[in-house]
Amino acid sequence: MKKIILLLIVAAVVAVFAFDLHSLLTLDSLKSSLGKFREFQAESPFMVAGVFFAAYVLVTAFSIPGAAVMTLAAGALFGLLQGLILVSFASTIGATLAFVGARYLLRDSVQAKFGNRLKAINEGVEKEGAFYLFTLRLVPVFPFFLINLLMGLTSMKAFTFFWVSQLGMFAGTVVYVNAGTELAKIDSLSGILSPGLILSFVLLGIFPLIAKKVTDKIKARKVYAQWNKPAKFDRNMVVIGAGAAGLVSSYIASAVKAKVTLIEAHKMGGDCLNFGCVPSKALIKSAKLAHQMRHAAKYGLHATTPGFSFKVVMARVHSIIKAIEPHDSVERYTGLGVDVIQGYAKIIDPWTVEVKHTSGETSRLTTRSIVIAAGAEPVVPPLPGIETSGYLTSDTLWDEFAKREELPKRLVVLGGGPIGCELSQAFARLGSRVTQVELADRIMVREDPEISAMAMESMRADGVNILTGHKAVRFERRGEQKILVTEHQGSNVEIEFDDIICAVGRKARLKGYGLEEIGVETNRTVITNEYLETLYPNIFAAGDVAGPYQFTHVAAHQAWYASVNALFGHLKKFKVDYSVIPWATFTDPEVARVGLNEQDAKEQGIAYEVTRYGIDDLDRAIADSDAHGVVKVLTVPGKDKILGVTIAGVHAGDLLAEFVLAMKHGLGLNKILGTIHTYPTLAEANKYAAGEWKRAHAPQKLLVWLGKYHAWRLG
Ligand SMILES: Cc1cc2nc3c(=O)[nH]c(=O)nc-3n(C[C@H](O)[C@H](O)[C@H](O)COP(=O)(O)OP(=O)(O)OC[C@H]3O[C@@H](n4cnc5c(N)ncnc54)[C@H](O)[C@@H]3O)c2cc1C
Repeated sequence: MKKIILLLIVAAVVAVFAFDLHSLLTLDSLKSSLGKFREFQAESPFMVAGVFFAAYVLVTAFSIPGAAVMTLAAGALFGLLQGLILVSFASTIGATLAFVGARYLLRDSVQAKFGNRLKAINEGVEKEGAFYLFTLRLVPVFPFFLINLLMGLTSMKAFTFFWVSQLGMFAGTVVYVNAGTELAKIDSLSGILSPGLILSFVLLGIFPLIAKKVTDKIKARKVYAQWNKPAKFDRNMVVIGAGAAGLVSSYIASAVKAKVTLIEAHKMGGDCLNFGCVPSKALIKSAKLAHQMRHAAKYGLHATTPGFSFKVVMARVHSIIKAIEPHDSVERYTGLGVDVIQGYAKIIDPWTVEVKHTSGETSRLTTRSIVIAAGAEPVVPPLPGIETSGYLTSDTLWDEFAKREELPKRLVVLGGGPIGCELSQAFARLGSRVTQVELADRIMVREDPEISAMAMESMRADGVNILTGHKAVRFERRGEQKILVTEHQGSNVEIEFDDIICAVGRKARLKGYGLEEIGVETNRTVITNEYLETLYPNIFAAGDVAGPYQFTHVAAHQAWYASVNALFGHLKKFKVDYSVIPWATFTDPEVARVGLNEQDAKEQGIAYEVTRYGIDDLDRAIADSDAHGVVKVLTVPGKDKILGVTIAGVHAGDLLAEFVLAMKHGLGLNKILGTIHTYPTLAEANKYAAGEWKRAHAPQKLLVWLGKYHAWRLG
């Protein structure tokens, strides 16, 4: 239907030009026909006014050139006041019809093409669209019809468009209608607007924008009004928290010779080193080896049940933390020029941070800027009985298990997200009887169903009892027995356990260090703008505390923006770029992703094509007896533009890097296909995926002709 309407409109506009109808709307034609129009007008003034009004609406609604001439005609025929009223309403109604038409006919396809990438534009339009439209309307050099059509593609409300247009076009309309009252003196349309007049319009147009910027500045200053700014500062920057975000922020500050203090209350390196990425990956490695020993027959060796001491396995995990610790240590950072304090930081005012040192004393530092990098902590669901269940989280399990001689026998893992899956599989592979409980109907819900099914199948094969659609409701103790009661399809399902790990998510640390007292806005995280500024433009947030992603590499990425904006924002500010964010879940198969997957694309209404390459076909994967998994690439239909990639398979996290680079730098699958990949490597999977895409886009008609050409050459 939309296509038919669009075709009819295009045909109508073409007809106007083909039959030279638009030449009726030129200055010369107006001047020569004015006498006739005046005669009609003398006979039936209301009808002429009505027909003029309707014609004006149609010309503007169909974006036919000639509105300027018609505005002059209004002045000539109806005089300043009546002409002004007629044109002012007709032009706004016509413009709004064009706006609504563009929205109805084109918006969906534009949205499907650009999807989430329009989000920033739509947000901008929501915030300041009326101001921009007003400016565009006021300055009559911007093409009238283009503004109508383009605005229709944004999320601006039709009513807003109507009244801002009516108001914004008023001054220009006065000038043109007034000029029309003295039509005989006008030789050309361009003569109506002198450079001086255009400049006045421009100034008038940008005035509301400037006024808004000034108001914003005043508002920003207002948040500081209740505080006394120190005359001098001890530091250029104070960073709260020495996890990935805090370490990188302070590293950058010291590298550019700023005076920076990094305050850490607990362990240098934060969650990633001490409770997160590092220990979990160390455990996963031991578990993988145990798994391979059990399945050694796959490699032509005798399968064996791995004999090991759990205490030694956990000691290895801690020794690996120790081995990496120097990278994040006080010594290293002090050596880099960072002033490191071990203690608990509290923000007292926008320029003062109080530190309760581990030694017990308290001190205060004044600083030009603050970077909040306080991280996140595990969510503990408030279930009845949980406090006495002896539950563990990623914060406590590494130390608790290090004390044990024995592997947990019956382990429950609450949560089917990445952390829950990694831990479930690792403990199952080491020999625990693991039950994983997930409320949703599948694990890894952010990934496409086929990918979570792949992970689920592999984890089940490793012995993980995955219970999806199970809601944990309470904990019970019956004598020595510990029981988790879950609800599944209306019935209670009881699960006995020796240990339970809560891995149902992580929440930003927001309490206890002054955010509430000074009024830094928070919801689930610290609220920041695109420069990572909080309500106070000299206080920034980065990492898990700021969200929206909870990854070490994103924390480090944000740290660059937070520290550079904190130190140099008065000269130039940078908007944090989330356009290409990769991540991986280190289960076996690993699941790695960058950009969109199918479920995201559907949710966001973005058109896509899928190309799959099965890793079961890859020589190196076959040689390694690891021939399973998939490379799944989403591209813009008919175009060599990558929208997103999911890889499931061995070393998927490493394989993804090539696609991350490609997306970051706008390279397509042709470029990956044209790049030599070493044989035999797993990385060849990427090239073969690109090959699949190329095959699907081969020019079939041309190939038929090529076949004929070669047949002809045979003689
Ligand atoms: C089990 C597990 C596995 C994970 N695996 C991965 C993975 O494979 N890949 C990945 O990218 N991410 C992984 N993550 C997530 C990753 O650990 C986090 O995204 C990352 O640590 C966030 O860094 P951050 O600097 O924001 O916060 P954190 O590392 O949490 O650092 C914040 C620091 O601030 C300190 N602090 C808080 N308040 C104060 C205060 N008032 N004064 C002084 N100090 C304070 C805390 O003590 C802490 O050390 C994993 C997490 C877990 C739990």
